[in-house]
Amino acid sequence: MNQTELIHQGLKVATQTKAFVLGKGVHQQVPGLFREFFPGRRPIIIADENTWRVAGEEVYQYMLADGQDCEKFLIPDKEFHAEWKYIEMIDALLKETGRVAISVGSGVINDLCKLTAFHQNNQRYLSVATAASVDGYSSFGASITYENAKQTFDCPAPIALVADVDVLAQAPKEMTAAGYADLAAKVPAGGEWMIADLMGTEPIIPEAWHVLQDVLDELLAHPESVAKGDPDAIADLFIGLTLSGFAMQAARSSRPASCCDHLFSHILDMTHHRYRGKLQSHGFQVAIGTLTMCAVFDEFLKMDLTKLDVDACVKAWPTLEEEQQRAIDLFENFPAPRLGYTEITKKYNDAETVRKQLETVKACWPEFREKLKGQVYSFEKMKQLFATVGAPYDPSQIGVARKYLCYRCDFAQLMRWRFNLLDLAKRGCFYDDLLIAVFGKGGAWEI
Ligand SMILES: [Zn+2]
Repeated sequence: MNQTELIHQGLKVATQTKAFVLGKGVHQQVPGLFREFFPGRRPIIIADENTWRVAGEEVYQYMLADGQDCEKFLIPDKEFHAEWKYIEMIDALLKETGRVAISVGSGVINDLCKLTAFHQNNQRYLSVATAASVDGYSSFGASITYENAKQTFDCPAPIALVADVDVLAQAPKEMTAAGYADLAAKVPAGGEWMIADLMGTEPIIPEAWHVLQDVLDELLAHPESVAKGDPDAIADLFIGLTLSGFAMQAARSSRPASCCDHLFSHILDMTHHRYRGKLQSHGFQVAIGTLTMCAVFDEFLKMDLTKLDVDACVKAWPTLEEEQQRAIDLFENFPAPRLGYTEITKKYNDAETVRKQLETVKACWPEFREKLKGQVYSFEKMKQLFATVGAPYDPSQIGVARKYLCYRCDFAQLMRWRFNLLDLAKRGCFYDDLLIAVFGKGGAWEI
């Protein structure tokens, strides 16, 4: 499928975004799009110093030339993440001015505008992207740190998304590599969705699955061109990220785009992880989560679950109270100490349900394993892709020790209500085996 067809297919699935304009010189279409979707309203461009320079000012000039009463607001800090204080800042701004936001920037600015627009009586907004760095532009929901926990707040995607390919291609190389890793995360995330589907907890939603997963391999196939900054390859990458957002719109959840691969990143956000004094990008953190899950999948797919002793596993299965206590103990010194408790309470299954789940996977293991092998890339393959594109392929590259990553696996398993591969491993009593295989002697990330 060519790029135009992919965009067309994507918009058919999208439930909230009505226009997606990608190409060269497309900023001049912003005034027309704004008039179309917000007749009679006045815009305010929200940017930071950098994104104002690379795109905001141009959009602003086009708005003025079109005779629109346009204002601007630049976020005052040099380094910022999606934190609540900025939500309060932009909430107040939008409320005071009564203007509609035009977000000009990448993931963080877009998420801030998405949630604050929604806070104004479900107002929509228009997004101008400045880097192919995340899938969040077109996604349903905004990922914001609130009360120390990284949380996804429900709120609709932008009504229109505009991206100038030349601006995307000139973005810092690390941002594009981060976007590539965010897209690559959909490979193991898809595998974990297949598991949740088999377990009956979150069935696969066909349109949300096909719009992205059918073309994902193709869109990830040219990391060397992405690394070189080839505009066509970067347009492909941006389309992949946007389709991922459209899949989330269709599913009204982030299930199509993330699972444990993202949870490791959320842990780093919540613990304010820095490397060489700097916060690490979403995509770089996700790269490490993605590789971790590819390594776990490698070991999982070596197993023979037809030999699973279901009775023994059911017998060993803890009670809800035991699981809650485990979560309370584990998260005791975590910035969000109740998180594990809340989430495990939501996703706990009783012993009889666990029996059914294990019998299901045991019965269809040979075929299911083949299907998973067709979905998930090996650790080595993913590592090669990341090395080529310029994304981190070892946790040390973002200042994370392998031992720390291993320690955080328990947190990743417990911190979200969604069924994941680690949940299956806990039920089947092979969780420790998987971790030893990945982090033990001869493992992908031998400690
Ligand atoms: Zn992401």
